[in-house]
Amino acid sequence: MTNNIYFIANWKMYGSTSSINSLNKLINLSKLKKYSKAKIIYLPPFTLLDAFNRKFKRTKISIGGQNCHHIQDYGSFTGSISPKMLKDLGCKFVILGHSENRMVGETDADVNNKIRSALNKNLKIIFCIGETFAEKKKKITHSVLNRQINKGLKGVKNYNNILIAYEPVWSIGTGVIPKEKELEFNIAKIKKILSKKTKNKLPILYGGSVNNKNISNLINIRGINGFLVGSASQNTKKFIDIIKKTIN
Ligand code: PEP
Repeated sequence: MTNNIYFIANWKMYGSTSSINSLNKLINLSKLKKYSKAKIIYLPPFTLLDAFNRKFKRTKISIGGQNCHHIQDYGSFTGSISPKMLKDLGCKFVILGHSENRMVGETDADVNNKIRSALNKNLKIIFCIGETFAEKKKKITHSVLNRQINKGLKGVKNYNNILIAYEPVWSIGTGVIPKEKELEFNIAKIKKILSKKTKNKLPILYGGSVNNKNISNLINIRGINGFLVGSASQNTKKFIDIIKKTIN
């Protein structure tokens, strides 16, 4: 990994106002020249976005939302957050298409509507794709990835603000990571599918049970530009360890 390396912390539905205190050491690390190519992005729950925004002021660490509505600005949608609201809270990013949302009914078309709307508001998209265990067993991983990419990015003209997070659903939260060959093969497939849509080389991240132990194996995977980290990122010590082991 030579250029920017992304480290995305997805806190899911965890964290409280006191969690902010644990971030000081990470902020110090982010200021060291040695780690200047580490692009660190935090995705806290909506309730903590404002506190994280204040905490990361005058640092290079960015924040993003964990979802958004497909209506860009305002509307009568109880419980929802729009791209405009995320921008207002200092978000540069939003993660869309996460399997935990797809599993409760979010369709490729929903993801596409959200992506286009968030792009219109100048948010950068962390676009999640990945096959379930049943799909892997049926050997349809590549057609699933093909469908998710083509439907999710339908109508998108400008690819400058899109990052791809490849997250095999069977790997999220299970402690199981794909074998090196399988992961490299799927990443290469994703690049091929994308090459038919754009000349841009989109950053491709791996996500799924990344921790401070298995990171030593994952950094050797060809073709990836960083990691999307769920549970291990909620422990700042472990997250720092992941960054240090990647950039050593
Ligand atoms: C995720 O939810 O995006 C994720 C990668 O989770 P975990 O690291 O806990 O598997």
